[in-house]
Amino acid sequence: MVNHRIAVIPGDGIGPEVVNEAIKVLELIKKLDPSFKIEFDTFDWSSEYYLKHGKMMPENALQTLKKFDAILFGAIGDKRVPDDVTIWELIMPIRKQFKQYINFRPVKLLKGVSCRFTGEDIDFVIVRENAEGEYSNSGGRLYQGHEQEIAVQNSIITRSGTKKAARFAFEYAKKHGKETVTSATKSNAIIHSMKLWDEAVLEVGQEFLAINLKSYYIDALAAYFVSRPEDFEVVVASNLFGDILSDLGSAVVGGLGLSPSANLNPEGEFPSMFEPVHGSAPDIAGKGIANPIAQIWSAALMLEHLGRKDLASVILESIEQVLVKKEVQTPDLGGSSTTIEMGSAIRGVLQQLLLVKEGR
Ligand code: ATP
Repeated sequence: MVNHRIAVIPGDGIGPEVVNEAIKVLELIKKLDPSFKIEFDTFDWSSEYYLKHGKMMPENALQTLKKFDAILFGAIGDKRVPDDVTIWELIMPIRKQFKQYINFRPVKLLKGVSCRFTGEDIDFVIVRENAEGEYSNSGGRLYQGHEQEIAVQNSIITRSGTKKAARFAFEYAKKHGKETVTSATKSNAIIHSMKLWDEAVLEVGQEFLAINLKSYYIDALAAYFVSRPEDFEVVVASNLFGDILSDLGSAVVGGLGLSPSANLNPEGEFPSMFEPVHGSAPDIAGKGIANPIAQIWSAALMLEHLGRKDLASVILESIEQVLVKKEVQTPDLGGSSTTIEMGSAIRGVLQQLLLVKEGR
C-alpha cells in the first residue's frame, strides 16, 4: 500500500543534482520506517525539454500532476531559454492552477552554521502571497521600440487573496505559540493596492486578538531583517515583497544553499509543491558541489505537509548534526565537500536517528 505518491520535477542546472540527494533521503526513510510508504514518478520537464519540444511541459501536464499527493521540485532556469518562458510556462501554471496561494519559507539559523549571526536565535517564517500581487500577467506594452514606449504592469491585490494569506499567517502563529505577525507594506507610497493590503490584514488580525499585528514599510523591514532578525516570528508579505524578503532572509541565515520553501494549497484540493529558494545556479551546475540541504529540507517540509512532522523533525536534526560536526561542508559553507558527500553524511546521521526512533 502506497500512502504518498510524489511527482518529482528535477528541472535544470543543479536541480537534478540536489533532488537526487533528497530522493535518497526519502528512500532511506522508506527502508527503515515501516509506517512510511512513498513512491515517485519523475518528469523531465525542463529547459532541455523545451529545446526538444518547444514547450516546458506537455499540454496535459497539470492533469497528470493533479493525481499526486505532492510535487518535489528542483530548480528551473537555463541561459538558452528566456527566464520568462521557464517561469511562466512551468512554475507559474503549477502555482496558479493548483491554487498554491501560499509560499511558505522558514528562516531559521541552523545549529552549526557560521555566519555573522552565529549563536543568535533566528527562527521565523515568511508567508508570501503566491498567486497575485505584483506577479500578474496583466498589463502590456505600447509603441514597442519607440521613444514614446509605454509599459504597464498591473499589481493585483484583492481583499480575498490578501485575507487568505493573512489568515494562514495568523493561524500558523496561533498554532505555533507565536506572539506577533509582521506585515510588509508600502501603503505610504503605493496608496491603492497596499492600502487594501493593510486593511485586509488588519481585518483578519481582529479575529486573532491574542496575536499582535505589526506593520512595517518594506524598506524599513528589509533593514530590520539585517539589524535585528531575531525579533521576527511570522512575516506576511505580498508576492514581490515576500520574494525579496525570502532571499534576504536566507542570506541572513547562511545562504541560498540552506533555504527551503513550500508552495501550499492549504485546503489540499490540489497538490502542493516543495522546492528550494535557490535557482538552477548555472555557475556551479555540473560540478557536483551544490549544497543539497535546501532541497532535503524542502522534502522535509513536504513530509510535514503530508502529516509526518515526526520525520521532518528527524531530517532537520540530521542536517543540524552534520553542520555542527563541520566534517562535511560544501563550498558555500566554506568547505570542499561534494553534493553527494553532504547527502551521504546527512543520511548517515538520519539512519542512526531512525534506528533509535524505531527502538532498534
Ligand atoms: P534564479 O533566477 O533562478 O534565482 P540565479 O542564478 O539568479 O537563478 P541562484 O540559482 O539561486 O540564482 O544562484 C544564486 C547564487 O547562489 C549563485 O552564485 C549560486 O551558485 C549560489 N547557489 C544557489 N544555490 C546553491 C546551492 N544549493 N549550493 C551552493 N550555492 C548555491
